[in-house]
Amino acid sequence: MRFQPTLPDRTGHFGPFGGKFVPETVMAALDELERAYAEARRDSGFRRQLGELLAQYAGRPTPLYFAKRLSRSLGRVRVYLKREDLLHTGAHKINNTLGQGLLAVRMGKRRLIAETGAGQHGVATATVAALFGLECEVFMGEEDMRRQSLNVVRMRLLGARVTAVRSGTRTLKDACNDAIRNWVTTVRTTHYCIGSVVGPHPYPRLVRDFQSVIGEEARRQIRKVAGRLPDVLLACVGGGSNAIGLFHPFRNDRRVRMIGVEAGGRSLTPGHHAATLVKGRPGVLHGSRSLLLQDRFGQVMETQSISAGLDYPGVGPEHAYYQLAKRAEYAAASDATALRGAALLARTEGILPALEPAHAIGYLEPLARRLPRNALVIVGLSGRGDKDVQTMAERLFPNGPARRV
Ligand SMILES: *Cc1c(COP(=O)(O)O)cnc(C)c1O
Repeated sequence: MRFQPTLPDRTGHFGPFGGKFVPETVMAALDELERAYAEARRDSGFRRQLGELLAQYAGRPTPLYFAKRLSRSLGRVRVYLKREDLLHTGAHKINNTLGQGLLAVRMGKRRLIAETGAGQHGVATATVAALFGLECEVFMGEEDMRRQSLNVVRMRLLGARVTAVRSGTRTLKDACNDAIRNWVTTVRTTHYCIGSVVGPHPYPRLVRDFQSVIGEEARRQIRKVAGRLPDVLLACVGGGSNAIGLFHPFRNDRRVRMIGVEAGGRSLTPGHHAATLVKGRPGVLHGSRSLLLQDRFGQVMETQSISAGLDYPGVGPEHAYYQLAKRAEYAAASDATALRGAALLARTEGILPALEPAHAIGYLEPLARRLPRNALVIVGLSGRGDKDVQTMAERLFPNGPARRV
């Protein structure tokens, strides 16, 4: 399939992926959102307001940092980090929630709901709700609430209600189900703020546009500091929003290789990982058609990952399309590789990454050996590691933090 750079089409499809698979009541709300977004895009007032918030409130532009000691330890390559970890609330999620929050206000909604896995999207939504004076309810799997209790506290401090989801595996996919169910009965007053490039049209497009600020800045910055475009873009993929945000502005630069890194979990046997693009098959989940981890009866499979933010059996339809059209490549990195990546970045650069982008850093080690000498690599550093310190400690210092590994 030849790569088409201007998707989605009018029906919200990226080739065979995307679309809208939702109950009737939600269909009207999606149309309303699509219209509001089309108007907002053309409104210079909206663009200026969003630009100001991204700059004054979130902290954009983020630096493109040359990681000299990391590059030296990998040999051969020159690595630049796009520092989304420095944003307010600690991850790229705020780029999207500020955009959707402004849209919600424009549509006259007074309540935001959201699903969250690691809690980063929940925190970013609760933050924006407080900023705009909106009510906020966040749906979160009970298992994730245990793994990410710090973020639960943050959401509550910000005034959000956190609703525990006890169905299924009590993780992100179940939180999505409950958020959609809640939206069906509250659409008139409520905007559903989806946290990644997933869900029914227009969400994958909307979230991609709000996150594309990452790649737009990076493209300008690398030309300025290196005098040319990068050879490789590397980013972790959960739902895929930080990766598509970095990739999309480079999609017409055919010599720029794009690599998405998924969670390889404990191993690539079924149920032990969340590598949807690597191992999934086409199917429908949470309102759109994409690749999906499913058994031979089409039942959604359990996933496993050390990072709650990548622990999801689906993936954004645009990534499924990029893979099919061979515009991007996708690989899996295991839990152990992610831990190695986190330790490597911490010790060479003094930067403790979140476990999600640590998958991309860990994957860089074997990748760097296969790249041409002096290859220019931009890694999307999607978030900082504070939320994962407990998990890292359990794995890296099993005898207690005072003893070395
Ligand atoms: C949520 C999250 C991710 C995964 O989501 P994407 O939509 O794939 O970007 C990755 N990194 C961090 C730090 C996150 O908080």
